[in-house]
Amino acid sequence: MTLDALTLSCRPGCGACCTAPSISSAIPGMPDGKPAGVPCIQLMPDLRCAIFGDPRRPAVCGGLQPSAEMCGPDRSHAIRWLTELEAATAPATASATAPGSAPATALATPPVTARAALPAR
Ligand code: SF4
Ligand code: SF4
Repeated sequence: MTLDALTLSCRPGCGACCTAPSISSAIPGMPDGKPAGVPCIQLMPDLRCAIFGDPRRPAVCGGLQPSAEMCGPDRSHAIRWLTELEAATAPATASATAPGSAPATALATPPVTARAALPAR
């Protein structure tokens, strides 16, 4: 186990995971989920989750774990990293795929996979 895995926890006041990625499952107040780049309606002004511990919180929110690669030194790094991940894993669409180009590869699982470790969220 690396030192990161032992010590890394969610940075207070970040909220990048609740903003940059899209979420396809229903969220209270956002029944169709949320698009990428839009803050979750449950994200409070202090950037904590208003429904942490509530069974209505999407399961995907409990899957994303902090990592040095994703979280980086600050929120802007995390937003950029997650935005790039979102773009890399988004399903190909007619408008996003140039004629003759290979379609993007979509992941079978949502790109956001780690929020259980987020403090009080
Ligand atoms: S897990 Fe990392 S990127 Fe996500 S909200 Fe926490 S500090 Fe930000
Ligand atoms: S952890 Fe809470 S605020 Fe963040 S995306 Fe999930 S429901 Fe929304």
